Amino acid sequence: MRLFPAFARAVLLGVATGAAGAAMAIAPAPGGTITEGPKAMVAAANPQAVEAGLAVLRRGGNAADAAVAIQAALGLVEPQSSGLGGGAFMLWYDAKSHTVTAYDGREFAPAGATPDMFLAPSGQPMSRAEAMLSGRSAGVPGAIAMLYLAQKDHGRLAWRGLFGDAERLADDGFLVGPRLQGMVEGHAPQARAPDVIAYFRDEKGRPIKAGERLKNPAYARTLRLIARQGPDAILKGKIAQDIVDRIHQGPIPGSMTLQDLAAYQAHSAAALCAPYRNYAVCGPNPPSGGVAVLEGLGLLQRTDIASRGPADAQGWYEISQAERLMYADDLRYNADPAFVKVPTAGLLSSGYLDERAKLIGPVAGAPPQAGDPPGAPNPGPDHTQEPGGTSSFVVVDRWGNVVAMTTTVESIFGDGRMVDGFFLNNQLTDFSFAPTDPDGRPAANAVAPRKRPRSSMAPTIILDREGRFVAGIGSPGGLAIPSFVLKGIVGALDWNLSMQQAVALPNLVAFGPAYISEPEKFAPGVVDGLKARGVNLVTNPFVEDSGLHGIIVRGGRLQGGADPRREGVALGCCGD
Ligand code: GLU
Repeated sequence: MRLFPAFARAVLLGVATGAAGAAMAIAPAPGGTITEGPKAMVAAANPQAVEAGLAVLRRGGNAADAAVAIQAALGLVEPQSSGLGGGAFMLWYDAKSHTVTAYDGREFAPAGATPDMFLAPSGQPMSRAEAMLSGRSAGVPGAIAMLYLAQKDHGRLAWRGLFGDAERLADDGFLVGPRLQGMVEGHAPQARAPDVIAYFRDEKGRPIKAGERLKNPAYARTLRLIARQGPDAILKGKIAQDIVDRIHQGPIPGSMTLQDLAAYQAHSAAALCAPYRNYAVCGPNPPSGGVAVLEGLGLLQRTDIASRGPADAQGWYEISQAERLMYADDLRYNADPAFVKVPTAGLLSSGYLDERAKLIGPVAGAPPQAGDPPGAPNPGPDHTQEPGGTSSFVVVDRWGNVVAMTTTVESIFGDGRMVDGFFLNNQLTDFSFAPTDPDGRPAANAVAPRKRPRSSMAPTIILDREGRFVAGIGSPGGLAIPSFVLKGIVGALDWNLSMQQAVALPNLVAFGPAYISEPEKFAPGVVDGLKARGVNLVTNPFVEDSGLHGIIVRGGRLQGGADPRREGVALGCCGD
């Protein structure tokens, strides 16, 4: 059997293959060639964005082209989640070379950022609301620079022709969805920010309602500039100046300069891939949540999860314990690898995963501590907090190329500050608010100039042993993202559910002492079975819902899934 590139890279990383070998006989890979039905598909969080992506695919664009159109539309119709002022991680699966490339469009901190910038004068961390709404929370936006790089590498159509649908929606008015209405009327501190009020409410203070149309001519103008100039349209010139000016206003002005914006660079690299049973699972590199998902899967591979099912408490118990172990490590070690040593290979190494998986006993104990993987530095515990607003989509084109992208302004409407029709992100609140632990050891995810904050975002692409595309999946959810993605992968690959069933499975986020979940959604007996194993499920309205979108190849057909907790769809096109 040919050692395809993803496996080759996994082996280079020293990632476990032994247990994968043991499991190899169990699951036949469902992936491969699409022989029936639609040849292309988009699964995303809003029908208007899906339509913009499909329109590009219909006129001969590929997945990289469609991703640009989808982001342009999402930034308009779902401004609470992602946009021109935010950042993203994206995977590109190349059908010809069978390789997965990871694109990093994560925001970075301005040169003037300091490790103590989220500490109040008392020396204690600021409240999250205060930090989010401050001018200090915005990082230099990277989503458009990243898309430009990826589209230049792989696109088929001209960049300037990819914005037409979003531009028309902005000029003529887009359809407001129930989720956006809910955010405008919701409890997020941004809902009371002046720019949010000015955009979404009339002179009498009446908020826009679902089903109404909202115009954003400034957004259309910005898109026209981006179409002509690429990311320079927002990283240089008048819009860059507008960004700097808005950030320098109160409350608590930030330090971003024109030089910071002009210095932004998106990156690409081989994706981080590891074997899971007879698949290769690929995610973005640190500081993304890709390594957490791969560690979670590595731990689950060492359980009997594949012989379980959604109605079996033991299966959910195993998922919950793998999550706790994965989070303990991710929060300790994951950060911008340009600034700190992230022990990625150690965390995914066979020996480490073997030992760590042994901590999954018959009954849940106290929350686990971070482990000591090979190559680990000794950073202090960290005080990163991370709720938010984000979006995730998957595109398959008629040539079999795939994009999986997770994109964010961090919290609902980012920092609540609007410039030229789009909201600025508050991504820097993804740094640890406290720079050190009480002993003075620096946190891996402490703020530093031009550093990228840790992310939980984990768009994921799964291949079979021949390097053929099996599935793509991703979700918003802040810290819960790796749990949501794990659940979706286990549901689709191990429990053989349809992608739609897999994304709809109950959520269970096991983090520290808490098991945050949707108890009412489990099959009879699961909640009690978990309780008997020391796992007491609680609901927590402050944890963001999942918004999983995925596409899988099953029996030669593309099969999509859109999370019923949001308002997205998965639609096919082209070639039936
Ligand atoms: N800012 C978060 C991250 O980058 C995402 C927030 C969310 O999913 O809502 O991990």
